[in-house]
Amino acid sequence: MTLYAIDLGHGCDYDGGAIAIKKEEDFINSVGLLLIKRLMQLGHEVIACRPSKASSLNNSLQQRCDRANNAKADIFVSLHANCFNTKAYGTEVFAMSPRGEKIARDICREISLLGFFNRGVKSGSHLYVVKNTNMVAVLVEMCFIDSARDVALFDAKYMADAICLGLTGRLPVDEKVF
Ligand SMILES: [Zn+2]
Repeated sequence: MTLYAIDLGHGCDYDGGAIAIKKEEDFINSVGLLLIKRLMQLGHEVIACRPSKASSLNNSLQQRCDRANNAKADIFVSLHANCFNTKAYGTEVFAMSPRGEKIARDICREISLLGFFNRGVKSGSHLYVVKNTNMVAVLVEMCFIDSARDVALFDAKYMADAICLGLTGRLPVDEKVF
């Protein structure tokens, strides 16, 4: 049994997600709720880290870290979707410890099996929630919401399955898609 801190990125005051062809928060919310459900079906414990209100961007990010740190979670996973220049596409995962990098590699591989380009594991040492959480932490940029290619490929259910597989190597039996 693992205690996962699942951070649905953005979604509160001073911390809005990107908006392009799709809204980043819509992608995060749909995948996040399914991912939490799958992890719990596998017998893991999950705490959700997104605050309901915040006084600044920094405060929003710190509250997420506090929730994970106070719960002494084993693994912190922050969900995001990328937005750049409409030309970039694919998935990338940020981490800063060797164990985080291994998890990040597994998530990248599983998401790329859905057809998304594997942009690989990147250093998350500049990212607030990766840096300020005490446990193994990864930040998943699932795909690009301003890429027509990625938006056409995106399916919340398959994305949640891929991240669940990357984290645990398993899916709940009744949720198997293959
Ligand atoms: Zn984001």
